[in-house]
Amino acid sequence: MRGSATPTAVLYWCRDYLATVSPRYDVPKAAPEPLRQVQLFVNSIDLHNRVEWLPDWLSAHGLDGEDERATELREALRSLVLANNGVPLDRAAVEIVNKAAARVSLQLDVDGRLNLAADGDALDEIMVTVLGAMLDGTWERLKACSNCNWSFYDYSPNRSATWCSMQLCGNRKKTRAYRRRRKLSAP
Ligand SMILES: [Zn+2]
Repeated sequence: MRGSATPTAVLYWCRDYLATVSPRYDVPKAAPEPLRQVQLFVNSIDLHNRVEWLPDWLSAHGLDGEDERATELREALRSLVLANNGVPLDRAAVEIVNKAAARVSLQLDVDGRLNLAADGDALDEIMVTVLGAMLDGTWERLKACSNCNWSFYDYSPNRSATWCSMQLCGNRKKTRAYRRRRKLSAP
């Protein structure tokens, strides 16, 4: 941006930028590849700010028209990553994920090693990555923020991170709780 931009121009630029791209605040908590692809899929909607990028995701992966199947799987995976953050798991989500997992199989590679494989599309690849992460133990670090539902990767040594960002959600939630307590204790 030019140094001469007026405050109004800067404001409009920020608004347009936020409306078209995934918020940057997931970057410090970006999952390692290939789990990052699952995180980006789950974060193809910003529920807090009501911005939907799923059509862009589908288009980029040659899956135009698969909105229903993709949305169903995305929200089921969100339920799973919310559960990694202590939120009760939705049973319907397990059924949906099992249905998607049925399209993945175990196969030997040329060296005789066992691998998860799918001959399908990008949604099947998402499932291959999810199941692989569950097997290698990295899955439980992929969480969703209990305030805004944004998915983040928990890099904390004891796996105790709760918020997508302390600034964006942790402090807001703490401020709300503080105000509630003050209201309750007011004479
Ligand atoms: Zn959040």
